[in-house]
Amino acid sequence: MLVKILGSAAGGAFPQWNCACANCRAVRAGAFRGKPRTQTQVAITEDGRSWFLLGASPDLRAQIEATPELHPRDGLRQSPITSVVLANADVDHVLGLLLLRELQPLRIYATGSVRRILRKDNSMFGMLERIPNQALWTDFALGTNFHLCGANGQDSGLRCQSWSLSTHYPAYVMPDRQSQLALGEASLGFAIESPSGSRLAYMPAVPNLDDALLQQLNSCDILLFDGTFWSDDELIRVQGSGQTALQMGHVPVESTLINLAGLRRPRKIFLHINNTNPMLDEASAEHRRVRNAGWEVAEDGWQFDL
Ligand SMILES: [Zn+2]
Repeated sequence: MLVKILGSAAGGAFPQWNCACANCRAVRAGAFRGKPRTQTQVAITEDGRSWFLLGASPDLRAQIEATPELHPRDGLRQSPITSVVLANADVDHVLGLLLLRELQPLRIYATGSVRRILRKDNSMFGMLERIPNQALWTDFALGTNFHLCGANGQDSGLRCQSWSLSTHYPAYVMPDRQSQLALGEASLGFAIESPSGSRLAYMPAVPNLDDALLQQLNSCDILLFDGTFWSDDELIRVQGSGQTALQMGHVPVESTLINLAGLRRPRKIFLHINNTNPMLDEASAEHRRVRNAGWEVAEDGWQFDL
């Protein structure tokens, strides 16, 4: 299995268009020790030809252009991107689907709840269903192991397992719709297993950790974990108001370094990093703490063969 990180920032990217925090100002001024980042996007393949996207970021068009493996190969209209697996219905996780609307067949794996939000309540997603077999919506059930198949039905050999991480749906989902949805399907983490048994864990939004989840993580080779905020009050300190990290469904990095200190097996990588997070600055004490704890801070363009 080949894993590529096409984007590693949280919603808004880094720098964020309307943000003048210390990080965003420094990176615009060319005075930042660290890299700009696009919004979180991961792509995986087993055979090097058919690619599966975990989510579809608002930066997907530029991310595809920056990744030669994802360029068209055969014929005038074609894409190696064959399927998308959705972990939630967040705008920065699904908006990229609309960028893939050029009548290209695409399988979209989602829970029934996420599919209903997008297809029934957001008519713009009808652009993915203008011709037969354009978008092949494929439901999966929580906790089950399912095979990732391409738009043509071909089995990639990759298997995906999902965990429920949060019961919090995006703010744009209307209350009457929310009451009809399965709470456990709001926000998921994935473990992707290759035919050789190597495992990737993808967990961009983790509100809390329990022992069962910890055990799952210890069976993985690579862990891509929620690195949104360094501290619980980060946004409040930067903006003067707002929600805490935990209220937004993200356990802060400084807690994760303690909570996951016993994790031995996986290579541990933070992704989905908000532009305000001080660990983005490679000259910062926070960045040093992360590295000394055996963690890495994901950058756009990283790839792993496992
Ligand atoms: Zn900023």
